[in-house]
Amino acid sequence: MVAELKMSREEVAARYWRITGSVVQMQVRDGHCIFYHPEQGCTVHEGRPWRCRQWPLHPSMLAEEDNFKTITASCPGFVPGMEYKKFCRVFRALMAQGDTGKFAA
Ligand code: SF4
Repeated sequence: MVAELKMSREEVAARYWRITGSVVQMQVRDGHCIFYHPEQGCTVHEGRPWRCRQWPLHPSMLAEEDNFKTITASCPGFVPGMEYKKFCRVFRALMAQGDTGKFAA
């Protein structure tokens, strides 16, 4: 992201990040990520954060089946008909290996 924006890390942090302890989040503007543009989508796509690159694989899916249902229903790239318990088992195994790219259709 720092390279994408061609700014120093300190400047990016001050202008765009919300830092709480060791957690870095993007600032929110008008109810969404500061980098989201209604017509352009993500304006830092090539430099988007790791968590954004992992989407739709979010750890909250392991905590609540409703989160799994909501996210899989909104993502057309998800393998259709994936059963929740199987998803959790495979996702945990992939997370342990550091590989979460195997759910996309
Ligand atoms: S992909 Fe990430 S950085 Fe880009 S607009 Fe969405 S939340 Fe923001």
